[in-house]
Amino acid sequence: MIIEKLIVGTLESNCFIIGDEDTKEALVVDPGDEPDRILDLIKESNLKVKFIVCTHAHFDHVGAVPDLKEQTNAKIVIHREDLDLYSNIEKQALLWGYEIDPLPEPDILVSEGNKIEIGNLRFEILHTPGHSPGGICLYGEGILITGDTLFAGSVGRTDLYGGDIQKLKNSFKRLMSLPEEIKVLPGHGPESTIGHERAYNFFSYEV
Ligand SMILES: [Zn+2]
Ligand SMILES: [Zn+2]
Repeated sequence: MIIEKLIVGTLESNCFIIGDEDTKEALVVDPGDEPDRILDLIKESNLKVKFIVCTHAHFDHVGAVPDLKEQTNAKIVIHREDLDLYSNIEKQALLWGYEIDPLPEPDILVSEGNKIEIGNLRFEILHTPGHSPGGICLYGEGILITGDTLFAGSVGRTDLYGGDIQKLKNSFKRLMSLPEEIKVLPGHGPESTIGHERAYNFFSYEV
């Protein structure tokens, strides 16, 4: 499995490119900004992008979606409960003082338990609300891509539109029940494992 990480934009979001070595099929998670860097890496690695997966629709995770869609024609995947945020992206970005292009219509509205396949790799959608209503994690092949639900040592904020601390606690508990060896790839900051987060994440003492 190919796993590439690019740190993009002023909020330093982690954009992941996950590819299948055999078929070269790939998916891009959270292309938040700097589309040229992302597209260059895709080209260099000779990958065919099938899906653009947004763990949630905050502007720092979707900013490069328009360019990626145009260049790859991959299917845009998002949870239906983040459609509000997604559709109002220009307003959302302006609140932070950023201008952003309108986003193309999503192609696939996922919900809990849906599967995404690229080549021989298989991932499951986990609906993990709390940071945003439609936050998702991508789980499979020994990795868990968590967006802003879970970081190394902490969790995402719940004071933004649609945030909900109780839901985040439930999502956190659920993720902590996954096998300890699962590698955690968060939306910001360094990677971790479920076992490490179970032991050291400050949120373990809150839930
Ligand atoms: Zn966020
Ligand atoms: Zn973020």
